[in-house]
Amino acid sequence: MVGDGTALEATTVVVDGDRIASVGPDAEGTGPAGGPRADDRVVELAGRTVMPGMVNCHFHATYHNLGATPAPFGLEEPMALQVVRAVRNLERLLLAGFTGAVSAGAPFAIDASMKTAIDRRLIAGPRLVPCSRDLSTTGHAGDTSFPTHWEIGALGAIRRSDGPEEFRRSVRLEVKEGAEMIKVFVTGGHGTVGPRERTEVSPDELAAAIGAAHERGVRVRGHIANKEALLMALDLGIDIVDHGDGMDDECIERLLATDTPVVPSMLFPARFLASMGGSGLGFTDEMRHDIDAMAAVLPVANDAGVRLVLGDDFGALHFPHGPYADELAYYVEEIGIPSMDVLTWATRNGADVLGRGDELGTVTAGKLADLLVVDGDPVADVNVLRDADALLAVVQGGRLVTDRLPGPPTGPG
Ligand SMILES: [Zn+2]
Repeated sequence: MVGDGTALEATTVVVDGDRIASVGPDAEGTGPAGGPRADDRVVELAGRTVMPGMVNCHFHATYHNLGATPAPFGLEEPMALQVVRAVRNLERLLLAGFTGAVSAGAPFAIDASMKTAIDRRLIAGPRLVPCSRDLSTTGHAGDTSFPTHWEIGALGAIRRSDGPEEFRRSVRLEVKEGAEMIKVFVTGGHGTVGPRERTEVSPDELAAAIGAAHERGVRVRGHIANKEALLMALDLGIDIVDHGDGMDDECIERLLATDTPVVPSMLFPARFLASMGGSGLGFTDEMRHDIDAMAAVLPVANDAGVRLVLGDDFGALHFPHGPYADELAYYVEEIGIPSMDVLTWATRNGADVLGRGDELGTVTAGKLADLLVVDGDPVADVNVLRDADALLAVVQGGRLVTDRLPGPPTGPG
């Protein structure tokens, strides 16, 4: 599976060092230009699939039962414990076949240190784009996770900012701490306690944040759950739309014009709602409405060519870290998106959002060898990616992170 919506059969993929040296018909020639050489490790993979490593484009490495305790987000646990959780979750993500991740927010610049630790091979994890704290205004949904009378400054996962000057300064502080992605809470809704109709930053605040980030070569992603805010954010040049509730035909047209990626992240609200059963709580009715609306519009956006990607709020309440590939099955089986399309979201589109589309995301000669070997055909049944035993190999930059390939291993790989 190439990762661009196509699949080849009877094909040999040659990896040399950290890159894919050639992709061509079986039994054709021997190196160096293409094909395996005499001393290469050759693995017979009939009935199995080679595909690009996947990318999770909305990941919170530190999240653990978020929303379960009345505490400021990011201050529920000591920082050191959050770091341990981040290390563990990033390793799990990699072992689940995600060789890349774009963070959607973490406290205390933990992401930046995770990126350094991964790059220096102190820990195993995906290629990571580190994100900032959440930038949001006073009283926004995440700023009300604890009682006001505590009167604590609460600089955990949220950097409260009001007015363009503060947004500029907040961006610069987060960039100084290592963020390569800035997260802004543009609206409530989508799993927050704030109503989705409420836009929580003004246009001049969002423009200031985006301007300050772009000056430093950093991108901005926005939690957006209503149409007006979505159109405003696109006008102001936002780089990634998170959630995108309220999307309609007009939004789709604008998303195509700006080529802005969207992370629909529907699995968390769907699982949350399921876990609440028929509780009859008002906000669960709103969640049901939003899920139904997104389920109706997402296939239209996909067919129109909107750049959609995987990623969700694993670690939020009733949605624990671990089964990351469940997302693929959800979009195929519950929303009706063709499996090949969802696999393209996970691979080529994900690599684009990672900012590495020229080097990752497809099985193409010359690209970095971030590959999976799957015992089965994910196009025929995407559920195979949920089965840890079926993931025969995870390859990152030509290195075998896991190796359950058939035949005897020859050397460190
Ligand atoms: Zn999130």
